Parts: sequence; C-alpha cells; structure tokens
Amino acid sequence: MTDLNLLDATNDPRRRSWVASANATGCDFPIQNLPYAVFRRRNSNEAFRGGIAIGDQILDLAAVAKSAVFEAGAARALQAAGQASLNALMQLGPDIWRALRDAVFQSLRDGSPLQAALKTCLVPQSEAYYSVPAQIGDFTDFYSSVYHATTVGRMFRPDNPLLPNYKWIPIGYHGRSSSIGVSGQSFSRPHGQRLPPGQSAPIVGPSARVDYELELGIFIGAGNSLGTQIPLSRAESHIFGLCLLNDWSARDLQAWEYQPLGPFLAKNFATTISPWIVSLQALAPFRVPVERPEGEPPPLAYLDSEANRVAGAIDIRLDAWLETAAMRERGDPPQRLSSTSFRHSYWTIAQLVAHHTINGCNLVAGDLFGTGTQSGPTPEEAGSLLELSAGGSKPIKVGDTERRAFLEDGDSVIMRGWCEKPGAARIGLGEVRGHLLPALSPSQTSQTTG
Ligand code: MN
Repeated sequence: MTDLNLLDATNDPRRRSWVASANATGCDFPIQNLPYAVFRRRNSNEAFRGGIAIGDQILDLAAVAKSAVFEAGAARALQAAGQASLNALMQLGPDIWRALRDAVFQSLRDGSPLQAALKTCLVPQSEAYYSVPAQIGDFTDFYSSVYHATTVGRMFRPDNPLLPNYKWIPIGYHGRSSSIGVSGQSFSRPHGQRLPPGQSAPIVGPSARVDYELELGIFIGAGNSLGTQIPLSRAESHIFGLCLLNDWSARDLQAWEYQPLGPFLAKNFATTISPWIVSLQALAPFRVPVERPEGEPPPLAYLDSEANRVAGAIDIRLDAWLETAAMRERGDPPQRLSSTSFRHSYWTIAQLVAHHTINGCNLVAGDLFGTGTQSGPTPEEAGSLLELSAGGSKPIKVGDTERRAFLEDGDSVIMRGWCEKPGAARIGLGEVRGHLLPALSPSQTSQTTG
C-alpha cells in the first residue's frame, strides 16, 4: 500500500522550480505543494479543466496532456485530470496520484529538460476563474473540535454542554452538496423560522444571526462498495486531499430547528470551499501526534491505531478574516478575527473516514467531508462568531468604528490555511472568500434555474 505519510523526494525543501514565483518566501504554492483545481481563463468560453498551482501560475493539465510528454501512470492520470471535474482522477487512487505528482515535480524542477515544452502550458492565476473542483455527490459535515462542541453546547444546553456520545463517535450529519460553491461565492441572507427569546411561537423572516464556520474540507478519492468498510489503516489512501471550507450557518434558525434531527435549513443555503485541493503527500512534513487531554477514553478499536496516535493529526494553521463593506469602501485591509490549528481536532481525518464506513456506507470519488468548525483550546482560537461574541452577547470590535455579533449584509469572510516549520517548505491551501448579500425580497423568491 502507498504510505502517504512518508516523506519522499517531492517534499525536499531544497528543491526549486524554474517558475521563479514558486521560490519566493511565503509563497503558498512552491514545487513541494502542487495542489489541484479546476479552472478556465476569466471571461472566456474555454472548457474547464484541471490545473496544478506552481507559484503564481497554473500548470494547465489539459494542455500538458496534449503535449504528450508524460508516460505510463502519469499519462493516464493526465487524461483524467484534463477534464472539467476531478472525479475521474480522484477515482484512480493513490498510486496514480503519486505518478502524476512525481512527473509534475520532475518537470517543474530547476533544470528540467521539459521546461521549454511546459512553459507554454502555464496560465497566470490572476487570469483564472475557478469552479468547484469535483462533482460532489454527497457532503458530510462533522463536529471534530471538542473545544467548539463544548463552547457551543454550553450555549444551547448550559447544564449539559458535551453530550455523552461526543468522545466515542465522530459526530456528523449529511449536508447538501448542491449549494456548495467555490471561493468568490455570494449568497443572500437566508429566510427561515426562528423563535424570538421569550416567545412561544416562531416567526419567519431573514436570519438575524448569520455566521461562518472555519473548517477544512476533505475530498474523497477512490470510494468503497456499498456494504464494505474502509479500515483505519487504509483510510488515508481514500483521501484525495484537503481544502478550506466555510460552513455558513444561520444560528437563530439552527437553535429552533436542530432538535431532534440535527442541522437542516440553517446550514444548507451556502457552503464555500477554496479552489485548491492539497494532497496528503504535500502535507506529510506537518504530521503531529493526536492531542488527547489526560483521562479521555481511548477510542474503540476500529478508530485506534499506533500510527493514528503518533501522526494522525496535521498542523495546519487556519485563520479567519473579516472585510466589512465600510472597510472595503475605505480601502482598509481585512481584519483577522481568529487563528487556530487543525492539530487541535479531537478526531483525525482517518478516523472520520473509518467511522463513516463502519456501517458499510459507500463513499464515492468526489464526496466531500467538512471537519466541523475548528476552534482551539483558548477563546481567541474560536472558529465562529457565535463563539467569539459569546452567543452574540459580546459583540467584537471590528476596525475603529464597527462591532459584530454576527455578520452584516455586505460582509466578506476570508479564510486562509498554511503549514510552516523549520526544515520544510511552506505549504499553503490558498484562501476561500465568501460574501453575504441582503436577504431576498419576496419578488425574488420564485426564480427557476435550468
Ligand atoms: Mn459545520
């Protein structure tokens, strides 16, 4: 089996690319990263196709396929990667992903004999328009931060913040894939039912508590047949890669509807992901042991292994930023709201896959998991406004003049993710940006789409 955690030559921090921007300090996309997206040139009728980020450029994989410079597994991968969604590439599995990564790495290296052939296959990222990189059949959102679960649980159930199943089951729910958009997505403030404080009957109208959730997305590669399980030891070979994910949430709708069956309309109106999917091979240098405070119950056998305990977590720095309409008008930069790391997650990505299939549920290439809001151990590391504003009771200061308990019309939320440590190349996930528009008026509510 391909071991995705093992460092290989493509992780070597000394390697440089003939694409000069990839060698710049602080670059998200050095030659050690090589994440995938689906793109075309902005304002063009070109077909969407797969691409790999290198510096401030995109290696156009459909163009590379035409140039016929790759052979064997890499050539097979290219045929799949040149399509308008990455599902076919995802389905091929880790040995073929590795073949393509190795071939692209070799061809983008300083001194590669393929430089002349591939230079014509580069498209500047500044000219790119991205699409959701896969046809996402199913979307599952988890709840893997115990800090988020405890803080939010305390608001909804002061006497009983963390339900007794939390430390045994990776909690999740099946979400909606049709409303997942790529960075740049705008959406209208959702309408819905909410129960005003002290009232006995709900009202309907625009949500007053729209929030973001700082999450990672996990794209499933090769799936499993219905009725089979993916054991923990093989779980990561089914993961194509990670992206950033903002699970927009209407807290007032959520509070009224979530019992007894969980989130529904409070969550399914929009979810935004970053265009780039970063492979586990690129993230291999940033593996860390799982943090479990003393006295936590050990996971059941199907969720436990030495490898998972020692290196199941990944230290990915995650930041959330806010840009209000006033900040935009003044030309002020966005303000950082919080910063945390995925290393604090109670459950690992492998545990999420193993748990999802313990009952024989079939995962399919292109399925997407959300990790759940990533909040760290301190209040400043919270991954949502719900937590940062203590349930809306303590609005936070934004810029010099504004305050926010929840999002206001015209707000943009930006999330960034990256990995950094001495002795490794910086690996960035890029950013995901989304924008809240005013609520629909009644005349806008019955449009149909083709
Ligand atoms: Mn969520």
